[in-house]
Amino acid sequence: MKIAMISEHASPLAALGGVDAGGQNVHVAALSEALAKRGHHVTVYTRRDATELPERVRVGRGLEVVHVDAGPARHVPKDDLLPYMGELADGVSRDWGQRPPDVVHGHFWMSGLAALDAARRPETGYRVPMLQTFHALGTVKRRHQGAEDTSPEERRWLEPGVGRSADRIIATCSDEVFELKAMGIATGKISIAPCGVDLNFFSPEGPVAARKRRYRILSVGRLVRRKGVDLVIRSLPYLKAAGFEDVELLIVGGGGDSTVMHKDPEIRRLLDLAAELGVSGHVTLQGQVPRAEMPGIFRSADAVVCAPWYEPFGIVPLEAMACGVPVVAAAVGGLRDTVVDHATGLHVPPRDPEAIASALSLLLENPTLRAKLGQAGERRARTRYSWDRVAAETEKAYQLAVAGAPASASAGIVPMEGAAL
Ligand code: UDP
Repeated sequence: MKIAMISEHASPLAALGGVDAGGQNVHVAALSEALAKRGHHVTVYTRRDATELPERVRVGRGLEVVHVDAGPARHVPKDDLLPYMGELADGVSRDWGQRPPDVVHGHFWMSGLAALDAARRPETGYRVPMLQTFHALGTVKRRHQGAEDTSPEERRWLEPGVGRSADRIIATCSDEVFELKAMGIATGKISIAPCGVDLNFFSPEGPVAARKRRYRILSVGRLVRRKGVDLVIRSLPYLKAAGFEDVELLIVGGGGDSTVMHKDPEIRRLLDLAAELGVSGHVTLQGQVPRAEMPGIFRSADAVVCAPWYEPFGIVPLEAMACGVPVVAAAVGGLRDTVVDHATGLHVPPRDPEAIASALSLLLENPTLRAKLGQAGERRARTRYSWDRVAAETEKAYQLAVAGAPASASAGIVPMEGAAL
């Protein structure tokens, strides 16, 4: 198949760990690579966010990245990119010319708009089957972030519109299916294909990063409030009270390396919180860590904690599991599918530092349990979450979309009853 991926803000070539660069970048890069390995030809379209980027980058056999001029050639926060989606669609459509792909796959709601626009231009005479992966849903974000949600107002009606107009939706977890249904999207056109993990790269064998203290707890991810890193810091006094004095919480992620990270307000907030709780000596903020160093860091941990308020999928727990490390995870979103309670890790209620501390105590005092959960996690990652398996599931969804999509263009987004577009 000739496959076009559109990922407006999350380039497969970007460095990870900054505010807008995380799981979606990994997902688009690894899925595209796995599809190319299965013999497909994949082009990923992303927005040019630096002047020096070449127009086309050949990443490997059957895989290229195209940087499309859409808005200023510099970093623009993802929530400010909506005005440039028309330009992005123009660039994609120009690149297709008279040779459209067999399918177009939008990643994130805004790319979905550009994908639908490019796929259904009456003047081209073709209609490309369009699939959508949302990665995150505005409804869920609003529910948890309220007034702090910086998404454009239009997301309220454009995102469900993308869902209704897409030929197929690829949800990454079962929780998302319920959310999509609640948005008025027919479940019959939803496929589930989770994110995967690179099992050659993330594995229990290999170098192990040095640790500072007897026990290491690890938190990895973009440092945005909803990731709940503050809740893990808040669990440390309980852990100390339970007798675990010699503990280090290593926090990986944040917008830069250790030289610039102290300017970041979220990092200041976390450091202030640690000082206020008297646990500064137990917290290390590492900043953004290059991909190559991540497996060694995972392997150095006794437990990885993921305590988000909500999580559309969450690749970090899979990476931890693939490295044989048990995961303490808030029982939300994708973490309910990936982490199996008392089998590959421990579930805790969301926003509950005391529960995080109890789960960590159980793991730290019991090396046999840690090893058992770690080994089961590795098995689960290997049997269910290889990128090749995810690509095979995605391929099935593409085939269903090709079989089911009407042949000619019918422009626009399917409006919600009474909604102004
Ligand atoms: N990551 C990284 N270096 C960092 C911070 C994060 O390589 O400094 C990677 C991490 O290993 C994972 C991804 O960024 O692959 C984060 O994905 P996840 O789905 O957990 O969170 P998201 O960013 O999508 O919210």
